[in-house]
Amino acid sequence: MTDRYGHFIDGSWRDPAGGAYFESINPATLEVLYEAARGDAADVELAVAAARRAFEAPSWSGLTATQRGKLLRRLGDLVAENADELARLESLDNGKLLREMRGQLASLPEYLYYYGGLADKIQGSQIPTSNLQILNYTQHEPLGVVGAITPWNSPLTLTTSKLAPALAAGNTAVIKPSEYTSRTVLRFAQLASEAGFPDGVVNVVTGYGAEAGAALVENPTIAKISFTGSTRTGSAIAASAAARFIGCTLELGGKSPNIVFGDANIENAAMGVIAGIYAAAGQTCIAGSRVFAHRSVYDELLERVSTRAKSIVIGDPLDDATELGPLAFGDQLDKVRSYVGIGVDEGATLYAGGGRPNVALPGYYFEPTVLTDVTNSMRVVREEIFGPVAAIMPFDTEDEVVGLANDTEFGLAAGVWTQNLARAHRMSRRLEAGTIWVNTYRAMSPMSPRQGFKSSGVGIEHGIESMHEYTRLKSVWINTDESPVADPFVMRG
Ligand code: NAD
Repeated sequence: MTDRYGHFIDGSWRDPAGGAYFESINPATLEVLYEAARGDAADVELAVAAARRAFEAPSWSGLTATQRGKLLRRLGDLVAENADELARLESLDNGKLLREMRGQLASLPEYLYYYGGLADKIQGSQIPTSNLQILNYTQHEPLGVVGAITPWNSPLTLTTSKLAPALAAGNTAVIKPSEYTSRTVLRFAQLASEAGFPDGVVNVVTGYGAEAGAALVENPTIAKISFTGSTRTGSAIAASAAARFIGCTLELGGKSPNIVFGDANIENAAMGVIAGIYAAAGQTCIAGSRVFAHRSVYDELLERVSTRAKSIVIGDPLDDATELGPLAFGDQLDKVRSYVGIGVDEGATLYAGGGRPNVALPGYYFEPTVLTDVTNSMRVVREEIFGPVAAIMPFDTEDEVVGLANDTEFGLAAGVWTQNLARAHRMSRRLEAGTIWVNTYRAMSPMSPRQGFKSSGVGIEHGIESMHEYTRLKSVWINTDESPVADPFVMRG
Protein backbone atom coordinates (compact mmCIF):
# COMPACT_ATOMS: atom_id res chain seq x y z
CA MET A 1 0.00 0.00 0.00
CA THR A 2 1.24 3.51 -0.84
CA ASP A 3 2.42 5.66 2.06
CA ARG A 4 0.17 8.61 2.72
CA TYR A 5 1.15 11.86 4.47
CA GLY A 6 -1.02 14.54 6.00
CA HIS A 7 0.00 18.13 6.68
CA PHE A 8 2.34 18.83 9.59
CA ILE A 9 0.54 21.45 11.68
CA ASP A 10 1.07 22.48 15.29
CA GLY A 11 3.50 19.63 15.95
CA SER A 12 1.36 16.80 14.59
CA TRP A 13 0.00 15.19 11.43
CA ARG A 14 -3.33 16.52 10.17
CA ASP A 15 -5.61 15.05 7.53
CA PRO A 16 -6.48 17.54 4.78
CA ALA A 17 -9.70 19.48 5.42
CA GLY A 18 -11.03 18.54 1.99
CA GLY A 19 -10.03 14.87 2.40
CA ALA A 20 -8.08 14.81 -0.90
CA TYR A 21 -4.56 13.54 -1.58
CA PHE A 22 -2.28 13.61 -4.64
CA GLU A 23 0.44 11.25 -5.83
CA SER A 24 4.15 11.92 -6.01
CA ILE A 25 5.89 10.07 -8.85
CA ASN A 26 9.48 8.86 -9.16
CA PRO A 27 10.54 10.58 -12.42
CA ALA A 28 13.08 7.86 -13.26
CA THR A 29 10.80 4.84 -12.89
CA LEU A 30 7.35 6.52 -13.05
CA GLU A 31 6.36 4.55 -9.95
CA VAL A 32 4.10 6.16 -7.37
CA LEU A 33 6.22 6.99 -4.31
CA TYR A 34 3.59 8.21 -1.84
CA GLU A 35 0.49 10.37 -1.51
CA ALA A 36 0.49 13.80 0.10
CA ALA A 37 -2.39 15.89 1.42
CA ARG A 38 -3.94 18.25 -1.11
CA GLY A 39 -4.06 21.42 0.96
CA ASP A 40 -6.60 24.21 0.56
CA ALA A 41 -7.46 27.50 2.24
CA ALA A 42 -8.93 25.71 5.30
CA ASP A 43 -5.66 23.82 5.92
CA VAL A 44 -3.66 26.99 5.42
CA GLU A 45 -5.90 28.86 7.86
CA LEU A 46 -5.32 26.15 10.49
CA ALA A 47 -1.54 26.21 9.97
CA VAL A 48 -1.28 30.01 10.01
CA ALA A 49 -3.41 30.21 13.17
CA ALA A 50 -1.13 27.63 14.85
CA ALA A 51 1.95 29.57 13.74
CA ARG A 52 0.51 32.85 15.06
CA ARG A 53 -0.34 31.26 18.43
CA ALA A 54 3.18 29.84 18.60
CA PHE A 55 4.64 33.26 17.72
CA GLU A 56 2.90 34.83 20.70
CA ALA A 57 3.36 31.96 23.15
CA PRO A 58 6.05 32.35 25.83
CA SER A 59 7.44 28.94 24.85
CA TRP A 60 8.78 30.69 21.69
CA SER A 61 8.57 34.45 22.23
CA GLY A 62 10.03 33.98 25.71
CA LEU A 63 13.18 32.28 24.46
CA THR A 64 16.41 34.24 24.40
CA ALA A 65 18.16 34.61 21.08
CA THR A 66 20.86 32.23 22.34
CA GLN A 67 18.22 29.61 23.09
CA ARG A 68 16.82 29.96 19.56
CA GLY A 69 20.33 29.54 18.22
CA LYS A 70 20.76 26.38 20.24
CA LEU A 71 17.57 24.89 18.77
CA LEU A 72 18.82 25.63 15.25
CA ARG A 73 22.14 23.96 16.00
CA ARG A 74 20.34 20.92 17.41
CA LEU A 75 18.26 20.75 14.23
CA GLY A 76 21.52 20.92 12.26
CA ASP A 77 22.80 17.90 14.17
CA LEU A 78 19.58 15.97 13.48
CA VAL A 79 19.77 16.81 9.76
CA ALA A 80 23.38 15.55 9.74
CA GLU A 81 22.32 12.30 11.46
CA ASN A 82 19.51 11.77 8.94
CA ALA A 83 21.36 13.08 5.86
CA ASP A 84 21.49 9.76 4.02
CA GLU A 85 17.76 9.16 4.38
CA LEU A 86 16.91 12.74 3.36
CA ALA A 87 19.23 12.64 0.33
CA ARG A 88 17.67 9.41 -0.87
CA LEU A 89 14.13 10.74 -0.43
CA GLU A 90 14.97 13.90 -2.41
CA SER A 91 16.61 11.94 -5.20
CA LEU A 92 13.61 9.60 -5.50
CA ASP A 93 11.24 12.57 -5.59
CA ASN A 94 12.95 14.91 -8.06
CA GLY A 95 15.28 12.62 -10.01
CA LYS A 96 18.45 14.50 -9.16
CA LEU A 97 21.54 12.39 -8.63
CA LEU A 98 21.80 10.76 -5.22
CA ARG A 99 25.47 11.87 -5.26
CA GLU A 100 24.42 15.50 -5.68
CA MET A 101 21.71 15.31 -3.04
CA ARG A 102 24.19 13.70 -0.62
CA GLY A 103 26.47 16.67 -1.26
CA GLN A 104 23.64 19.14 -0.62
CA LEU A 105 22.56 17.33 2.54
CA ALA A 106 26.13 17.19 3.81
CA SER A 107 26.32 20.99 3.68
CA LEU A 108 22.77 21.64 4.92
CA PRO A 109 23.66 21.54 8.65
CA GLU A 110 26.05 24.44 7.92
CA TYR A 111 23.03 26.64 7.15
CA LEU A 112 21.48 25.79 10.50
CA TYR A 113 24.75 26.21 12.44
CA TYR A 114 25.47 29.50 10.68
CA TYR A 115 22.09 31.08 11.43
CA GLY A 116 22.08 29.46 14.88
CA GLY A 117 25.27 31.40 15.50
CA LEU A 118 23.78 34.62 14.14
CA ALA A 119 20.61 34.47 16.27
CA ASP A 120 22.15 36.42 19.17
CA LYS A 121 24.09 38.80 16.97
CA ILE A 122 21.12 40.68 15.55
CA GLN A 123 21.42 44.00 17.27
CA GLY A 124 20.22 47.54 16.87
CA SER A 125 22.27 50.66 17.45
CA GLN A 126 22.23 53.86 19.44
CA ILE A 127 21.85 56.93 17.23
CA PRO A 128 23.60 60.21 18.10
CA THR A 129 20.79 62.63 17.18
CA SER A 130 21.21 66.41 17.46
CA ASN A 131 19.47 66.49 20.88
CA LEU A 132 21.73 65.37 23.71
CA GLN A 133 18.72 64.88 25.99
CA ILE A 134 17.27 62.21 23.72
CA LEU A 135 18.28 58.59 23.81
CA ASN A 136 17.46 57.15 20.37
CA TYR A 137 18.06 53.49 19.67
CA THR A 138 16.90 50.92 17.13
CA GLN A 139 15.89 47.31 17.59
CA HIS A 140 15.15 44.51 15.14
CA GLU A 141 11.93 42.66 15.80
CA PRO A 142 10.62 39.46 14.22
CA LEU A 143 7.80 39.95 11.71
CA GLY A 144 5.38 37.25 12.85
CA VAL A 145 4.30 34.34 10.64
CA VAL A 146 6.45 33.90 7.53
CA GLY A 147 5.01 32.00 4.55
CA ALA A 148 7.71 30.05 2.70
CA ILE A 149 6.94 28.70 -0.78
CA THR A 150 9.60 26.56 -2.43
CA PRO A 151 10.26 24.72 -5.73
CA TRP A 152 11.17 21.11 -6.43
CA ASN A 153 14.74 21.31 -7.65
CA SER A 154 16.53 21.58 -4.27
CA PRO A 155 13.65 21.26 -1.82
CA LEU A 156 15.46 21.18 1.51
CA THR A 157 18.30 23.55 0.70
CA LEU A 158 15.91 26.19 -0.58
CA THR A 159 13.53 25.71 2.37
CA THR A 160 16.38 25.95 4.87
CA SER A 161 17.71 29.13 3.23
CA LYS A 162 14.45 30.77 4.29
CA LEU A 163 13.63 28.98 7.49
CA ALA A 164 17.00 29.25 9.24
CA PRO A 165 17.20 33.09 9.23
CA ALA A 166 13.43 33.41 9.83
CA LEU A 167 13.59 31.22 12.95
CA ALA A 168 16.86 32.73 14.15
CA ALA A 169 15.10 36.12 14.14
CA GLY A 170 12.18 34.75 16.20
CA ASN A 171 9.50 34.28 13.53
CA THR A 172 7.32 31.22 13.03
CA ALA A 173 6.65 29.67 9.63
CA VAL A 174 4.22 27.91 7.36
CA ILE A 175 5.94 26.16 4.46
CA LYS A 176 4.25 25.18 1.20
CA PRO A 177 6.69 22.87 -0.61
CA SER A 178 6.42 22.08 -4.29
CA GLU A 179 3.73 19.54 -5.14
CA TYR A 180 6.49 17.46 -6.76
CA THR A 181 8.62 17.16 -3.62
CA SER A 182 6.60 17.19 -0.40
CA ARG A 183 8.29 14.34 1.44
CA THR A 184 11.59 15.74 2.72
CA VAL A 185 10.11 19.05 3.83
CA LEU A 186 7.56 17.13 5.94
CA ARG A 187 10.39 15.05 7.41
CA PHE A 188 12.33 18.25 8.10
CA ALA A 189 9.40 19.68 10.10
CA GLN A 190 9.29 16.46 12.13
CA LEU A 191 13.01 16.83 12.85
CA ALA A 192 12.41 20.42 13.97
CA SER A 193 9.90 19.07 16.49
CA GLU A 194 12.41 16.48 17.65
CA ALA A 195 15.03 19.21 18.01
CA GLY A 196 12.73 20.95 20.50
CA PHE A 197 11.10 23.73 18.47
CA PRO A 198 7.72 24.32 20.16
CA ASP A 199 4.59 23.08 18.39
CA GLY A 200 3.38 25.49 15.74
CA VAL A 201 6.76 27.13 15.08
CA VAL A 202 7.36 25.07 11.91
CA ASN A 203 4.28 23.97 9.92
CA VAL A 204 3.98 22.39 6.50
CA VAL A 205 0.91 22.47 4.25
CA THR A 206 1.38 20.39 1.10
CA GLY A 207 -0.54 20.82 -2.13
CA TYR A 208 -0.77 22.68 -5.42
CA GLY A 209 0.37 26.24 -6.03
CA ALA A 210 -2.99 27.56 -7.19
CA GLU A 211 -4.70 26.11 -4.10
CA ALA A 212 -2.46 25.86 -1.01
CA GLY A 213 0.20 28.28 -2.33
CA ALA A 214 -2.22 31.04 -3.31
CA ALA A 215 -4.15 30.62 -0.05
CA LEU A 216 -0.94 31.11 1.91
CA VAL A 217 -0.03 34.25 -0.02
CA GLU A 218 -3.51 35.68 0.51
CA ASN A 219 -3.83 34.79 4.19
CA PRO A 220 -4.23 38.11 6.08
CA THR A 221 -2.18 36.94 9.09
CA ILE A 222 0.95 36.24 7.04
CA ALA A 223 3.55 38.95 7.67
CA LYS A 224 5.89 38.09 4.82
CA ILE A 225 6.24 35.74 1.88
CA SER A 226 9.58 34.22 1.04
CA PHE A 227 9.39 32.53 -2.34
CA THR A 228 11.71 30.63 -4.64
CA GLY A 229 10.36 29.61 -8.01
CA SER A 230 9.58 30.88 -11.46
CA THR A 231 9.56 34.56 -12.39
CA ARG A 232 5.94 34.25 -13.49
CA THR A 233 4.71 32.95 -10.12
CA GLY A 234 6.98 35.41 -8.32
CA SER A 235 5.39 38.29 -10.17
CA ALA A 236 1.87 37.20 -9.12
CA ILE A 237 3.01 36.80 -5.50
CA ALA A 238 4.67 40.23 -5.51
CA ALA A 239 1.45 41.83 -6.79
CA SER A 240 -0.61 40.16 -4.07
CA ALA A 241 1.89 41.07 -1.34
CA ALA A 242 2.04 44.68 -2.58
CA ALA A 243 -1.73 45.05 -2.31
CA ARG A 244 -1.44 44.30 1.43
CA PHE A 245 1.90 46.10 1.92
CA ILE A 246 3.63 43.00 3.21
CA GLY A 247 7.20 42.29 2.21
CA CYS A 248 8.40 39.50 0.00
CA THR A 249 11.75 37.97 -0.77
CA LEU A 250 11.76 36.48 -4.25
CA GLU A 251 14.38 34.14 -5.73
CA LEU A 252 13.38 33.68 -9.34
CA GLY A 253 14.51 32.40 -12.71
CA GLY A 254 17.68 32.93 -14.69
CA LYS A 255 19.34 32.71 -18.08
CA SER A 256 22.91 33.00 -16.96
CA PRO A 257 25.82 33.69 -19.32
CA ASN A 258 28.96 31.57 -19.01
CA ILE A 259 31.71 33.48 -20.85
CA VAL A 260 34.94 31.88 -22.07
CA PHE A 261 37.74 34.24 -23.15
CA GLY A 262 40.58 33.32 -25.49
CA ASP A 263 43.07 33.35 -22.62
CA ALA A 264 41.09 30.90 -20.45
CA ASN A 265 42.32 27.52 -19.28
CA ILE A 266 40.17 25.87 -21.92
CA GLU A 267 40.06 22.45 -20.29
CA ASN A 268 38.69 23.87 -17.03
CA ALA A 269 36.39 26.24 -18.90
CA ALA A 270 34.84 23.31 -20.80
CA MET A 271 34.27 21.51 -17.48
CA GLY A 272 32.73 24.70 -16.09
CA VAL A 273 30.36 24.89 -19.06
CA ILE A 274 29.39 21.24 -18.55
CA ALA A 275 28.85 21.79 -14.81
CA GLY A 276 26.87 24.95 -15.52
CA ILE A 277 24.32 23.43 -17.86
CA TYR A 278 24.28 19.64 -17.46
CA ALA A 279 24.58 19.27 -13.68
CA ALA A 280 21.13 18.51 -12.30
CA ALA A 281 20.03 18.12 -15.94
CA GLY A 282 20.03 21.91 -16.23
CA GLN A 283 17.24 22.20 -13.68
CA THR A 284 18.88 24.90 -11.60
CA CYS A 285 18.08 28.57 -11.45
CA ILE A 286 21.79 29.32 -11.94
CA ALA A 287 22.16 27.14 -15.07
CA GLY A 288 24.78 28.62 -17.41
CA SER A 289 22.46 28.21 -20.37
CA ARG A 290 24.00 30.93 -22.57
CA VAL A 291 27.60 30.06 -23.39
CA PHE A 292 29.69 32.77 -25.06
CA ALA A 293 33.08 31.64 -26.43
CA HIS A 294 35.70 33.97 -27.86
CA ARG A 295 36.02 33.25 -31.58
CA SER A 296 39.65 32.15 -31.12
CA VAL A 297 38.55 29.23 -28.87
CA TYR A 298 34.98 28.75 -30.09
CA ASP A 299 35.64 25.61 -32.19
CA GLU A 300 37.76 23.98 -29.51
CA LEU A 301 35.26 24.72 -26.72
CA LEU A 302 32.33 23.52 -28.81
CA GLU A 303 34.16 20.28 -29.58
CA ARG A 304 35.15 19.67 -25.96
CA VAL A 305 31.67 20.43 -24.61
CA SER A 306 29.76 18.42 -27.19
CA THR A 307 32.14 15.44 -26.97
CA ARG A 308 31.73 15.34 -23.19
CA ALA A 309 27.96 15.91 -23.51
CA LYS A 310 27.71 12.83 -25.72
CA SER A 311 29.64 10.68 -23.22
CA ILE A 312 27.62 11.72 -20.15
CA VAL A 313 26.38 8.60 -18.35
CA ILE A 314 22.59 8.77 -18.24
CA GLY A 315 20.59 6.47 -15.99
CA ASP A 316 19.27 5.73 -12.52
CA PRO A 317 19.89 8.72 -10.20
CA LEU A 318 20.51 6.30 -7.32
CA ASP A 319 23.46 4.74 -9.18
CA ASP A 320 26.77 6.38 -8.29
CA ALA A 321 28.03 6.02 -11.87
CA THR A 322 25.15 8.09 -13.29
CA GLU A 323 25.96 11.65 -14.35
CA LEU A 324 22.55 12.75 -15.63
CA GLY A 325 19.13 11.72 -14.31
CA PRO A 326 15.65 12.40 -15.66
CA LEU A 327 13.81 15.68 -15.72
CA ALA A 328 11.57 16.04 -12.69
CA PHE A 329 8.15 15.53 -14.28
CA GLY A 330 6.37 15.04 -17.57
CA ASP A 331 5.44 18.68 -18.24
CA GLN A 332 9.05 19.64 -17.68
CA LEU A 333 10.16 17.13 -20.33
CA ASP A 334 7.53 18.43 -22.77
CA LYS A 335 8.70 21.99 -22.15
CA VAL A 336 12.37 21.21 -22.77
CA ARG A 337 11.58 19.19 -25.89
CA SER A 338 9.37 21.92 -27.26
CA TYR A 339 12.03 24.60 -26.68
CA VAL A 340 14.56 22.60 -28.72
CA GLY A 341 11.98 22.44 -31.52
CA ILE A 342 11.36 26.18 -31.26
CA GLY A 343 15.13 26.79 -31.48
CA VAL A 344 15.46 24.71 -34.63
CA ASP A 345 12.41 26.42 -36.17
CA GLU A 346 14.06 29.78 -35.41
CA GLY A 347 17.17 28.71 -37.33
CA ALA A 348 19.40 27.16 -34.65
CA THR A 349 21.49 24.08 -35.44
CA LEU A 350 21.01 21.02 -33.25
CA TYR A 351 24.71 20.26 -32.77
CA ALA A 352 24.31 17.49 -30.14
CA GLY A 353 21.50 15.68 -28.32
CA GLY A 354 17.93 16.87 -28.64
CA GLY A 355 16.06 13.63 -28.05
CA ARG A 356 15.38 10.78 -25.68
CA PRO A 357 18.58 8.96 -24.72
CA ASN A 358 18.94 5.23 -24.81
CA VAL A 359 18.01 4.45 -21.20
CA ALA A 360 16.32 1.30 -19.94
CA LEU A 361 14.22 3.21 -17.39
CA PRO A 362 10.86 4.61 -18.59
CA GLY A 363 11.29 8.04 -16.95
CA TYR A 364 11.44 11.61 -18.24
CA TYR A 365 14.91 11.52 -19.77
CA PHE A 366 16.34 14.05 -22.23
CA GLU A 367 19.78 14.08 -23.84
CA PRO A 368 22.37 16.74 -23.00
CA THR A 369 21.84 19.14 -25.88
CA VAL A 370 23.95 21.75 -27.68
CA LEU A 371 22.43 24.41 -29.94
CA THR A 372 24.64 26.50 -32.22
CA ASP A 373 23.93 29.24 -34.80
CA VAL A 374 21.85 30.97 -32.17
CA THR A 375 21.33 34.70 -31.74
CA ASN A 376 20.24 36.85 -28.84
CA SER A 377 16.83 37.41 -30.38
CA MET A 378 15.84 33.72 -30.32
CA ARG A 379 13.48 32.43 -27.65
CA VAL A 380 15.93 29.65 -26.71
CA VAL A 381 18.39 32.38 -25.74
CA ARG A 382 15.92 34.74 -24.10
CA GLU A 383 13.68 32.37 -22.09
CA GLU A 384 14.50 30.02 -19.23
CA ILE A 385 14.33 26.41 -20.49
CA PHE A 386 15.28 24.73 -17.19
CA GLY A 387 16.75 21.68 -18.89
CA PRO A 388 20.08 20.36 -20.24
CA VAL A 389 20.17 22.68 -23.25
CA ALA A 390 23.19 24.90 -23.93
CA ALA A 391 23.13 27.67 -26.54
CA ILE A 392 26.74 28.31 -27.61
CA MET A 393 27.66 31.56 -29.37
CA PRO A 394 30.95 33.13 -30.54
CA PHE A 395 32.02 36.70 -29.73
CA ASP A 396 34.91 38.94 -30.79
CA THR A 397 35.40 41.65 -28.17
CA GLU A 398 34.90 42.21 -24.46
CA ASP A 399 32.50 45.11 -25.08
CA GLU A 400 30.46 42.95 -27.43
CA VAL A 401 30.12 40.07 -24.95
CA VAL A 402 29.21 42.41 -22.08
CA GLY A 403 26.42 43.80 -24.26
CA LEU A 404 25.20 40.33 -25.24
CA ALA A 405 25.43 38.92 -21.71
CA ASN A 406 23.51 41.85 -20.19
CA ASP A 407 20.87 41.84 -22.92
CA THR A 408 18.42 39.73 -20.91
CA GLU A 409 15.56 40.28 -18.49
CA PHE A 410 17.40 38.10 -15.93
CA GLY A 411 20.38 38.81 -13.68
CA LEU A 412 20.92 35.87 -11.38
CA ALA A 413 24.49 34.71 -12.05
CA ALA A 414 27.30 34.83 -14.59
CA GLY A 415 30.51 32.85 -15.19
CA VAL A 416 33.76 34.26 -16.58
CA TRP A 417 36.72 32.15 -17.68
CA THR A 418 39.96 34.07 -18.11
CA GLN A 419 43.52 34.09 -16.79
CA ASN A 420 43.71 37.88 -17.03
CA LEU A 421 43.23 39.29 -13.53
CA ALA A 422 42.32 42.79 -14.68
CA ARG A 423 39.72 41.38 -17.05
CA ALA A 424 38.28 39.21 -14.27
CA HIS A 425 37.66 42.28 -12.11
CA ARG A 426 36.47 44.38 -15.03
CA MET A 427 33.94 41.76 -16.10
CA SER A 428 32.73 41.26 -12.52
CA ARG A 429 31.99 44.98 -12.39
CA ARG A 430 30.31 45.19 -15.79
CA LEU A 431 28.07 42.12 -15.70
CA GLU A 432 24.54 42.72 -14.42
CA ALA A 433 24.09 39.69 -12.18
CA GLY A 434 23.92 39.13 -8.44
CA THR A 435 26.56 36.38 -8.42
CA ILE A 436 29.72 36.35 -10.53
CA TRP A 437 31.95 33.30 -10.72
CA VAL A 438 35.44 33.59 -12.18
CA ASN A 439 37.12 30.32 -13.20
CA THR A 440 34.48 28.35 -11.30
CA TYR A 441 30.70 27.82 -11.53
CA ARG A 442 27.91 26.90 -9.08
CA ALA A 443 29.95 27.69 -5.94
CA MET A 444 27.62 28.59 -3.05
CA SER A 445 27.65 28.98 0.72
CA PRO A 446 25.12 29.98 3.38
CA MET A 447 27.65 32.61 4.47
CA SER A 448 27.71 34.37 1.10
CA PRO A 449 24.74 36.65 0.33
CA ARG A 450 23.06 36.32 -3.03
CA GLN A 451 20.57 38.47 -4.80
CA GLY A 452 18.87 38.17 -8.14
CA PHE A 453 19.15 41.33 -10.23
CA LYS A 454 16.42 42.45 -12.66
CA SER A 455 13.68 39.79 -13.11
CA SER A 456 15.71 37.25 -11.13
CA GLY A 457 14.56 38.41 -7.74
CA VAL A 458 13.92 40.83 -4.93
CA GLY A 459 15.78 40.77 -1.61
CA ILE A 460 18.72 38.76 -0.38
CA GLU A 461 19.19 35.16 0.65
CA HIS A 462 22.13 33.77 2.62
CA GLY A 463 24.70 35.72 4.57
CA ILE A 464 24.17 38.10 7.46
CA GLU A 465 22.17 40.31 5.10
CA SER A 466 19.30 37.84 4.84
CA MET A 467 18.63 38.10 8.59
CA HIS A 468 17.18 41.53 7.93
CA GLU A 469 14.73 40.10 5.41
CA TYR A 470 12.98 38.58 8.44
CA THR A 471 12.97 41.51 10.88
CA ARG A 472 11.44 44.94 11.05
CA LEU A 473 13.27 47.92 12.48
CA LYS A 474 11.91 49.95 15.37
CA SER A 475 13.32 53.35 16.34
CA VAL A 476 12.81 54.26 20.03
CA TRP A 477 13.09 57.88 21.27
CA ILE A 478 13.41 58.46 25.02
CA ASN A 479 13.49 61.98 26.39
CA THR A 480 15.75 62.16 29.46
CA ASP A 481 14.95 65.86 30.00
CA GLU A 482 12.22 66.22 32.64
CA SER A 483 12.12 70.04 32.64
CA PRO A 484 8.80 71.67 31.59
CA VAL A 485 8.04 71.65 27.87
CA ALA A 486 8.30 75.31 26.84
CA ASP A 487 6.69 75.16 23.41
CA PRO A 488 4.53 72.13 22.43
CA PHE A 489 4.59 73.22 18.77
CA VAL A 490 8.36 72.89 18.44
CA MET A 491 9.42 69.47 19.77
CA ARG A 492 13.12 68.88 19.24
CA GLY A 493 14.58 65.63 17.89
P1 NAD B 1 6.94 27.48 -9.77
O1 NAD B 1 6.91 28.96 -9.73
O2 NAD B 1 6.05 26.78 -10.72
O3 NAD B 1 6.57 26.89 -8.33
C1 NAD B 1 7.30 27.23 -7.17
C2 NAD B 1 6.40 27.06 -5.96
O4 NAD B 1 5.33 28.01 -6.06
C3 NAD B 1 5.72 25.70 -5.85
O5 NAD B 1 5.64 25.34 -4.49
C4 NAD B 1 4.34 25.95 -6.43
O6 NAD B 1 3.36 25.05 -5.94
C5 NAD B 1 4.08 27.35 -5.92
N1 NAD B 1 3.09 28.11 -6.69
C6 NAD B 1 2.76 27.99 -8.00
N2 NAD B 1 1.79 28.87 -8.32
C7 NAD B 1 1.52 29.58 -7.20
C8 NAD B 1 0.62 30.64 -6.90
N3 NAD B 1 -0.20 31.16 -7.82
N4 NAD B 1 0.62 31.15 -5.64
C9 NAD B 1 1.45 30.66 -4.71
N5 NAD B 1 2.30 29.63 -4.92
C10 NAD B 1 2.34 29.11 -6.16
O7 NAD B 1 8.45 27.07 -9.96
P2 NAD B 1 9.06 25.59 -10.10
O8 NAD B 1 8.76 25.09 -11.46
O9 NAD B 1 8.62 24.77 -8.93
O10 NAD B 1 10.60 25.88 -9.93
C11 NAD B 1 11.43 26.21 -10.99
C12 NAD B 1 11.70 27.70 -11.00
O11 NAD B 1 12.31 28.08 -9.78
C13 NAD B 1 12.68 28.10 -12.09
O12 NAD B 1 12.21 29.26 -12.71
C14 NAD B 1 13.96 28.38 -11.33
O13 NAD B 1 14.82 29.27 -11.96
C15 NAD B 1 13.43 28.91 -10.04
N6 NAD B 1 14.43 28.76 -8.97
C16 NAD B 1 15.05 29.89 -8.53
C17 NAD B 1 16.05 29.81 -7.56
C18 NAD B 1 16.78 31.03 -7.07
O14 NAD B 1 17.45 30.96 -6.05
N7 NAD B 1 16.68 32.16 -7.76
C19 NAD B 1 16.38 28.55 -7.03
C20 NAD B 1 15.72 27.43 -7.52
C21 NAD B 1 14.74 27.56 -8.48
